[in-house]
Amino acid sequence: MSNRFKAIRGMADVLPEQTPMWQWLEGHFRRLTFRYGYQEMRLPLLEPVALFQRAVGEATDIVAKEMYDFRDKSGEHITLRPEGTSGCLRAVLENNLCYNTTQRLWYQGPMFRYERPQKGRLRQFTQFGVEAFGMAGPDVDAEMIFMISDLFKQLGLSDHVRLEINSLGTPDERRDHREALVAWFTAHRDVLDEDSLKRLENNPLRILDSKNPEMQPMLEQAPRLIDHLQPASRDHFATVCALLDRAGIPWTLNARLVRGLDYYTRTVFEWVTDALGAQGTVCGGGRYDGLAELFNPKPLPACGFAIGIERLLLLIQTVSTQDNPLWHFHPDVVITREREDEGLQAQLLAELLRQRIAGLSVLVDCSGGKLKRQHQTARQHQCKAIVTINNDGALRLWDLVASQQQQVSEQDLIGWLQRYAR
Ligand code: ATP
Ligand code: MG
Repeated sequence: MSNRFKAIRGMADVLPEQTPMWQWLEGHFRRLTFRYGYQEMRLPLLEPVALFQRAVGEATDIVAKEMYDFRDKSGEHITLRPEGTSGCLRAVLENNLCYNTTQRLWYQGPMFRYERPQKGRLRQFTQFGVEAFGMAGPDVDAEMIFMISDLFKQLGLSDHVRLEINSLGTPDERRDHREALVAWFTAHRDVLDEDSLKRLENNPLRILDSKNPEMQPMLEQAPRLIDHLQPASRDHFATVCALLDRAGIPWTLNARLVRGLDYYTRTVFEWVTDALGAQGTVCGGGRYDGLAELFNPKPLPACGFAIGIERLLLLIQTVSTQDNPLWHFHPDVVITREREDEGLQAQLLAELLRQRIAGLSVLVDCSGGKLKRQHQTARQHQCKAIVTINNDGALRLWDLVASQQQQVSEQDLIGWLQRYAR
């Protein structure tokens, strides 16, 4: 029908058949953050545009092209958040959460970027993010990576993702490298594509990130930031790598890993997969010690990462060889009835079961359809048992797990169904 509305491009509905898998994954996030001692933050979806201009950087794609920004009714320039770190830091500073203390925080929720939608790339997508504030040591960088590695292990993904790390040094070290880099790119101007020529002016580091195959040989030879690090940054990076080795977490150095946000310093990392085509980065993060100083007189070292949930779910669906019952909706018991008219008795029986057996999922078929059809639907739900209220009010139990059926009293039924409580 032509007068029906459609969702806005790049914004997906998560349908009931998909939500069990989301909830299952969210359970993993909650357990993970609990085990590592991180507390949840719930942050606004709208933030001032200026926050991201300052924090993420004017010359980044996110700020230059991708923000859903607008003027509100009072004329304030605001935007749907394109990422979570800036808002999290804003909240930490505004609420003085790091006054004489450190913070380990996590959040989950939608982010918005006006990008070209494709597989694994949406305009509204969801991130699970973790941030640690007030701790400058390389052990915290390693803790982040331990945590992600643990998550991938729990999800059975360890063999399908790999860790790439790099150090982006300090602003001084970057300036030093930037000069060498601009000189190199200027000498190889003829190989640069249009995008890179633009970046040469405002963000030359990002050219290293280009996927253009014709530029790869030149990029391979470009000056490496890692070679411009001073001893303190070099030691910091070496300690992170040593900790990963000692914990048995494999990693590779990707000297061209720069990340798309300006706020990073020292350690940066990405977890990538080959299973999702071009959208292969499932997690990105690193240290951003200089960010707080843009807003705050006092420095506040920090480190964090974000995982794209839609991409993570795609990856799980792509590589899983086995189905998991937790990825689907299954009521334990479905109440059906022979009489097609009223369902009062069915509702009362269902309520009795729920009150007497905590943790039992009981669904009442209120479709008013034929009994045979009700049974078909119940079996499609892959429930454990079907209870039928016969015309005479008698109860019949169909145990689909044990493949048996029998007439039962209410008391028998309660006793029998205890076994299916979750
Ligand atoms: P990409 O290089 O794929 O654009 P990114 O570097 O822009 O990713 P980050 O800003 O680091 O991504 O965000 C962290 C994670 O969020 C990514 O690794 C990815 O899993 C997810 N993500 C980012 N943009 C999108 C998007 N438009 N749609 C779905 N997921 C996304
Ligand atoms: Mg991007």
